[in-house]
Amino acid sequence: MALRLDSPLEFVKGVGPQRARLLSDQLGMDTVGAMLLYFPFRYIDKTRYTPLAEATQDGQFYQCRGKLTGLEHHGFGRSRRLTAMLDDGTGRIELIWFQHYQWFLDKAEVGKEYRIFGRLKLARTGKSMAHPEIALMMAEPQPNSLRWEPVYPSGEALAKKGYDSRGIKNLVFQIFQNLDVRMVDETLPTYILEKYRLMNRQEALLNIHFPKDEQSLARARQRLKFEELFALQLRMVRNMYLRKKKDSGIPMASPGELYQNFYENHLPFALTGAQERVLRELQLDLRSGYQMNRLLQGDVGSGKTIVALLTMVWAISQGHQACIMAPTEVLAQQHYESIASLIRTIDLRCALLTSSVKAADRMLLLGMLARGEIHILIGTHAVLEDKVVFSQLGLVVIDEQHRFGVEQRAKLWGKAHPLPPHVLVMTATPIPRTLAMSLYGDLDVSVIDELPPNRRAIVTKHFTEAYRITLYEFMKEQIAEGRQVYIVFPLIEESAKMDIENLEMGYERLLEYFPRPQYQIAVVHGRLKPKDKANEMTRFARGRANIMVATTVIEVGVNVPNATIMVIENAERFGLSQLHQLRGRVGRGADQSYCVLMTANRPAGDAAERIRTLCATNDGFAIAEADLRLRGPGDLDGTRQSGLLELKVANLSEDQPMLYAARRLAEAILRRDPGLDHPLNALLRKLFEGDPDQPIGKIA
Ligand code: ADP
Ligand code: MG
Repeated sequence: MALRLDSPLEFVKGVGPQRARLLSDQLGMDTVGAMLLYFPFRYIDKTRYTPLAEATQDGQFYQCRGKLTGLEHHGFGRSRRLTAMLDDGTGRIELIWFQHYQWFLDKAEVGKEYRIFGRLKLARTGKSMAHPEIALMMAEPQPNSLRWEPVYPSGEALAKKGYDSRGIKNLVFQIFQNLDVRMVDETLPTYILEKYRLMNRQEALLNIHFPKDEQSLARARQRLKFEELFALQLRMVRNMYLRKKKDSGIPMASPGELYQNFYENHLPFALTGAQERVLRELQLDLRSGYQMNRLLQGDVGSGKTIVALLTMVWAISQGHQACIMAPTEVLAQQHYESIASLIRTIDLRCALLTSSVKAADRMLLLGMLARGEIHILIGTHAVLEDKVVFSQLGLVVIDEQHRFGVEQRAKLWGKAHPLPPHVLVMTATPIPRTLAMSLYGDLDVSVIDELPPNRRAIVTKHFTEAYRITLYEFMKEQIAEGRQVYIVFPLIEESAKMDIENLEMGYERLLEYFPRPQYQIAVVHGRLKPKDKANEMTRFARGRANIMVATTVIEVGVNVPNATIMVIENAERFGLSQLHQLRGRVGRGADQSYCVLMTANRPAGDAAERIRTLCATNDGFAIAEADLRLRGPGDLDGTRQSGLLELKVANLSEDQPMLYAARRLAEAILRRDPGLDHPLNALLRKLFEGDPDQPIGKIA
């Protein structure tokens, strides 16, 4: 049956409704067109043969050649199977078929040389391959056979139903056989294809699945990468243009008395030069008439909160409400407490909204919010819910952005009428330029590059287990002087159970050295209910506990200036920027602070390098660079873990020059034709609007 791009997969020969549902559930693929955009992640050169002795990786695909030395037909009925032995002089492998082998049985000749291709299974009893492709060796190269075997990502549920890599390959092959490739639309205008000498889209899709040769594969990949990066940049630059159109934002030209009074009389400290400069940058945005969309970068402890608060007060002084969104309950709580205390002397009302606010309180709160009686709403994702309605939302602050995506930003936009609120996004993580361009390419950027005065550089030391008592004695001295201590344990999802046990053991050991009631220890970890977590945090923040034992939940944002020691247990298990973030929890007051990195023994390799780096510098950008170097370009951005930006073919570190080219092109086109109205750009409009079947980097 002839297929079309919008044909449901179930109509492809051999798929059917059940397997179509599986593909939909597991891969999110519903149509033929979508399936064509499910790309192989690598290719096997089928003209190369691996000696059996060198085929040693379980689960890998190999192509081998050797003599058929045995053939046996076993069992009856359901338990029937065919086994064969292949020997290439370096080793032996067993080949197994459970069905569909009659054709082979009929013509197989023991003693002849065969070529096999398939997935290796390694067991104690030896090597085997189930349902290999097999063919008699003839004059090479094999006619009609693909040189490059595409390898597709698959998974257990898929493989069970026949969609291992090869099953997927067959499916895609089937599609190409029954689809008129001319139905695949071009997405890039001819002038772009010519300018960058790009392969057309039909050929590119064909070749990324079934490459004619190495060069065609390279060109297909190049074409699709360009399309992906360009579509992303086009969207970013277009957003920027739309935003900067006059009258796109809520006008907040001149601050009211409230702001003047707060700024002049109620700040607990003088702002640093960098804080003042950034504050002016933000105010320029608010005065401009267009919508602010700004990323505020500043190392931990650089004082972003007060800048955000002043900006909120600016908006409120002109009759608007503001909202600040944090990634965790603990952080939202912290913000609530520090903001409540900062505005205590002026006539403003703030409220905290998280998922643990009780229904009755929530009703009350939402009512006040809708009537405009709450000026600042502080919360977690809960503030995104549809029920949360503002009377005059004018400004949204998002703290520690790397955990929020573009879509969440967009959701908040919808909460103000008729114009979108101004948006300020804050992050302490230095972001590499290529990632910033792709993730926040539609944002303006401000940087606080100065720490508040009288901060003493944190002293960082590495201790091994042998010095634990020394550490505890030192903690006792600091506690005796009224200081507080954090002790952080790693918590990695895969080993969560062991990690919790580890934390509990650590806690027990602490109790021996720091007995109650003389010492108070608070404990916070991911398994606590949000409410208990908040209680423990508060206990520590108010100074009622001397020590806080925690998993990495305190990683970002928590502010307890009286805490002067940060102990990081199993420091070798943390990444560099994570260690830096944790360390940033101390050194927030005037007292000398310390960070102690604990490891069982002297670590080796990268871990040693990370610890050395951290002991040597406090500079967040230097650390971000070292982090990039150590993690290597493969995981340049750490986006894979965060899932913020999913690119299908492009790679931000490998394809940097192409990314810059795509950005320049998007800027040049939109400068001349901001509405993409020119007939030559008609295709781009479609690309921009984001047809779901196009391979555009997805932003989660
Ligand atoms: P971050 O940028 O990490 O969010 P915060 O806004 O939490 O940093 O500020 C860190 C600490 O520094 C807070 O205790 C805050 O009160 C204090 N702080 C901020 N700005 C100044 C300043 N200009 N002078 C003195 N202390 C400041
Ligand atoms: Mg902060």
